[in-house]
Amino acid sequence: MSKDIYLVIGGSGFLGRHIVQQLLDRGDIVSVFDIVQRYDDVPFYSGDITDEDQVAAALRKSGTTCIIHTASPPAGLTDSALYFKVNVDGTKAVIAAAVACKVRKLVFTSSAGVVFNGTDIVDVDERLPFPEVPMDAYNESKAKAEEAVLEANGKGGLLTVALRPAGIFGPGDRQVMMGLYQVYERGQTHFQVGNNTNLFDWTYVGNVARAHILAADKLDIPPPAPPISAFEKAPSTVGD
Ligand code: NAD
Repeated sequence: MSKDIYLVIGGSGFLGRHIVQQLLDRGDIVSVFDIVQRYDDVPFYSGDITDEDQVAAALRKSGTTCIIHTASPPAGLTDSALYFKVNVDGTKAVIAAAVACKVRKLVFTSSAGVVFNGTDIVDVDERLPFPEVPMDAYNESKAKAEEAVLEANGKGGLLTVALRPAGIFGPGDRQVMMGLYQVYERGQTHFQVGNNTNLFDWTYVGNVARAHILAADKLDIPPPAPPISAFEKAPSTVGD
């Protein structure tokens, strides 16, 4: 199997930069597509994912075989229209450009929030459906984008996968630490929400980045045959 050529969409962001660095560290060929330029040592394509032609031009020029799409406006904004434009229309434009350019793989960063409706989630897996009432426009738009990415699996030979990180922390973060520091600066640290038993998943950014790269690698490998137990039990013989 020949090595992939990567385009990290949103590669100037917190998670994107870690993905780019890990790909470079293992000797891969990688370019970045983003509305913000933060690189001088990596091929960079300045563009907006809502413009399919801009994405397609970057894919053709870079010779991309694998897209890792991490771009999104940050959570917590009040502009719902922006979320639907970038996350839903933009992701659909990325899919269309990928199919048109015969890209083999698309890895999408979704969010754990797509299945959260405000009540605790314990012992569930990917089969948990999206809530009837989404938490907010950010999570609703991420869910719709994820759906589009998974539906595109197999289209024109494109293989797709979506990952759902919860909270991401680590070097380069500009959201979590800033929020915590603002609470401290406003003198709000003596307030407590809930009874101090709330749980939330946090994952180190280097591990989230690695998960994206492993997911891309695994897309090449057909899933193993399901175990016998996954099939219906053989009919019992007469007299059983
Ligand atoms: P970030 O804001 O640091 O990075 C996002 C990048 O996307 C930025 O560089 C931004 O310029 C780019 N971008 C935004 N709109 C674009 C557009 N229209 N066209 C091209 N580029 C665009 O965010 P992050 O924290 O690195 O998050 C990365 C991904 O992970 C996002 O999809 C986010 O929804 C998801 N996620 C993040 C967290 C978290 O805790 N940070 C948790 C769960 C999921």
